Amino acid sequence: MQATAETQTSEAAIVAAAQALRQDAVRMLGELVAHPSLMSEERSAQAYMADTFAALGLQVHEFQIDEDRIRAHPGYSPSIVSYEGRPNVVGIHKPDGPSRGKSLIFNGHIDVVPTGAPALWTHPPFDPFIEGDRLHGRGACDMKAGIVAYTMAFKALQSLGLAPASPVYFQSVVEEECTGNGALACLVEDYRADAAIIPEPLGGIMTCQLGVIWLAIEVLGKPVHASVAQTGVGAIDFSLYLFAELKKLEARWNEPSARYRCFAHHAHPVNFNLGKIQGGEWASSVPSACPATFASASIPT
Ligand SMILES: [Zn+2]
Repeated sequence: MQATAETQTSEAAIVAAAQALRQDAVRMLGELVAHPSLMSEERSAQAYMADTFAALGLQVHEFQIDEDRIRAHPGYSPSIVSYEGRPNVVGIHKPDGPSRGKSLIFNGHIDVVPTGAPALWTHPPFDPFIEGDRLHGRGACDMKAGIVAYTMAFKALQSLGLAPASPVYFQSVVEEECTGNGALACLVEDYRADAAIIPEPLGGIMTCQLGVIWLAIEVLGKPVHASVAQTGVGAIDFSLYLFAELKKLEARWNEPSARYRCFAHHAHPVNFNLGKIQGGEWASSVPSACPATFASASIPT
């Protein structure tokens, strides 16, 4: 730390400064949740983050993911939608003098998963509300709270007249919930530090994480009239059969002997999910087609 005051600032003083920002943090989280940053709709939330970083005196770097630059990287996944108008935003802190100590990256994703069935929400998903000591809304937990936490950590230091003595990069990235290309683009953009912290709401400190594989299959059946259904092959039935077979693969991959060593302790590290299925034409025809999307995913990120 660089202290503007001559006196050494205690850890307790830093913690107290962070606690003093609680209302600020709640306000920022509510404002961020109100930006419906579903995949491909992250623009307004990212503009909010750019403004927030600028207000803290950070240098702001906004850049759009360039697929031609990340495609050759082993971490690349094919994108689903265009990156046009969906920038990554990085707030950059550089010390006034020579760097001392360790540099750090904070990385948080701004995208949120779909909101699901409206009937299951007691409040609109992007209309944050507070109940007890929790703020609810899509993305409040995963992981806008993490972005707020790293932002407030820096602000707390500022309130004490302190600043990190090495570079710190505050990354707000798009598209974590499927490809991870947002964080990858930061890496390819050559953001490097001695350590990186991703303040995901997973509890505790994790140093290893599973990824996700998406699998899209379109099953074509043998359509016949429902009255002779036994002579056809229903595309929906066959998709369900395929998924049942994938669940057997899931069981094999979760066998203790098949696990990667970092997940040896985990109760059920690999999970296949039949995330989306649609098919058929109407009730009295054996379905001719059934597109389905499966995912093999880890503990939620
Ligand atoms: Zn997350």
